[in-house]
Amino acid sequence: MSSELLTGRLAKEHKTITHMLQIYCRHHHQHQLPLNGLCDQCLELADYAAQKLDRCPYGDTKPDCARCPIHCYKPEQRQQARVAMRFAGPKMLWHHPIEALQHLIDKKRAIPARPPQGKSQYALRKAANNNSSSN
Ligand SMILES: [Zn+2]
Repeated sequence: MSSELLTGRLAKEHKTITHMLQIYCRHHHQHQLPLNGLCDQCLELADYAAQKLDRCPYGDTKPDCARCPIHCYKPEQRQQARVAMRFAGPKMLWHHPIEALQHLIDKKRAIPARPPQGKSQYALRKAANNNSSSN
């Protein structure tokens, strides 16, 4: 799974998650290296997040993860993500102010009552592939 598959809102969201993981990783795993990379553990979590975003049934109408009624993360990854987000959240305003503001705006958005059918990016991509192969 590669985050390059993601498009639109979800791609943006993954970028924000990656930035937050970079901040967390730098302070906890890599001892103040510049904000450029991730350790193996954090890289794995970033890939996991990309996979979950790709399959998010809300697709582009996805609410912010913290308030989402669907708990798609496994408990272990959920816990890791929570700890990292809680740490990095306040620091995002300093490092990536526009993304931080966007996230605050997202938090105010109404949560769609229920996810639409077949609107995850994964499902849409699969449908597109099926169409092109049957023609
Ligand atoms: Zn790390």
